[in-house]
Amino acid sequence: MQQQQPPITLQSLLTQSRPAIPQQLPPQAAPIAPPVPAVQAPSQVPPDMHQLIALSSQPGAAPPVDATSHAVGIDEDLKRELIAHSAIGQDTRFRTEDVTNTKKHQFEDYALKRELLMGIYEKGFERPSPIQEEAIPLALTGESILARAKNGTGKTAAFLIPALERIDPAKPFIQALVLVPTRELALQTSQIAKELSKHLHIEVMATTGGTGLRDDILRFRQTVHMLIATPGRVLDLASKSVCDLSQCALLIMDEADKLLAPEFQEPNEALISFLPPNRQILLFSATFPITVKSFKDLYMSRAREINLMDELTLKGVTQYYAFVEERQKVHCLNSLFRKLQVNQSMIFCNTVNRVVLLAKKITELGYSCFYIHAKMLQQHRNRVFHDFRNNACRNLVCSDLFTRGIDIPSVNVVINFDLPHNSETYLHRIGRSGRFGHLGLAINLITYEDRHNLYRIEKDLGTEIKPIPADIPLELYASQVPPQ
Ligand code: AMP
Repeated sequence: MQQQQPPITLQSLLTQSRPAIPQQLPPQAAPIAPPVPAVQAPSQVPPDMHQLIALSSQPGAAPPVDATSHAVGIDEDLKRELIAHSAIGQDTRFRTEDVTNTKKHQFEDYALKRELLMGIYEKGFERPSPIQEEAIPLALTGESILARAKNGTGKTAAFLIPALERIDPAKPFIQALVLVPTRELALQTSQIAKELSKHLHIEVMATTGGTGLRDDILRFRQTVHMLIATPGRVLDLASKSVCDLSQCALLIMDEADKLLAPEFQEPNEALISFLPPNRQILLFSATFPITVKSFKDLYMSRAREINLMDELTLKGVTQYYAFVEERQKVHCLNSLFRKLQVNQSMIFCNTVNRVVLLAKKITELGYSCFYIHAKMLQQHRNRVFHDFRNNACRNLVCSDLFTRGIDIPSVNVVINFDLPHNSETYLHRIGRSGRFGHLGLAINLITYEDRHNLYRIEKDLGTEIKPIPADIPLELYASQVPPQ
């Protein structure tokens, strides 16, 4: 029988010269366990309304939303039915404290329009996540907010719900502008906005680079209430007076750290000059580097801060590294595919070239695989995004184009075929698995040259990346019950 080798630890990599690498990954994992019944949701406790009311009377806040005009609440049976028919309502996977550790608020507590509540329940959102509990009531008061929460814990709805609530469909102009760093994220976010506002008569439009201006110009002849865009395109449209932002009193920046990177400073300033002076600004991100602080000091000095990041990484994502030679990486990936129970995987490479080459190799190995990177034609990018999201393919090889915000709930494995150069990129990449508190794996293929980088990422993020074991227990990434 073959002797099993002990895992190579990062410590030994850092202190010793290049060790011998096992030619084979550890043997095949145990057979897949049968599905187990879902964990019951915690019992409901009445929310602390006093706190919500106190929040809406902060000094300097815009007048609270007029709750009297809303038919607050929704019939409990209808609510149950809407949730039960949604994709999320039927998802019985285990969820971690990252999303279950709430104050037990209900969406009804926020005096939202009945039509908006219907959209929320039809999406399958039964109760607010921690970031939604903090951000929704505060944003409804009109305050500017700087909000930090982990990847995939419901940030999008945390800003879309108050934005949709505050939009008056009777006023035929842009009332909310949502900026996102990538085209795919703009499409994803506008889709969610359209679903949430399904019963509200609010017109949501997405506009991004990579598409013809002509269609956008025609579209602006009709009413747009909420515009979701990448910064370059909206600046172009505003500068050409195609879109009027002069009455847009709400600016939202998702993945704000990325949007506020130094190279975007000038376009951001230009864009803000098109907005009215009394605008509300909401910044959302998992990571807030120093550039965000200077923006805050300049444009939102009275902003309230929400920080739910007691730690950086998601509780549900287990991280491993496999120490390999560069030329063994494809072989290693093949072994992982054979051993793991992959729902859907995202495999990251550091260059466009490597994305294309790896996708070709994976296809040759007989696995279904798509690839996506920033140099592809936009219509091809859209197609791949759409099809992967609809489960047309199990594996997606991608560049860092897909690092941020992209939400594909069935991805349970992320593989860093190449280790990223910085810790923030690492954090956002691995956050593509473990969406909304679910379980997932992040596996890093590490060469000898990567060892210091891996060590730095661990230290920067205060996390542990363990050597890959012989068997990865299924309950860590493909189970409906909590890991022991
Ligand atoms: P986000 O962090 O906005 O990308 O959201 C991550 C995932 O959580 C998405 O698949 C959302 O549909 C889902 N989600 C957001 N809010 C809720 C909620 N309150 N209840 C259940 N799922 C949610």
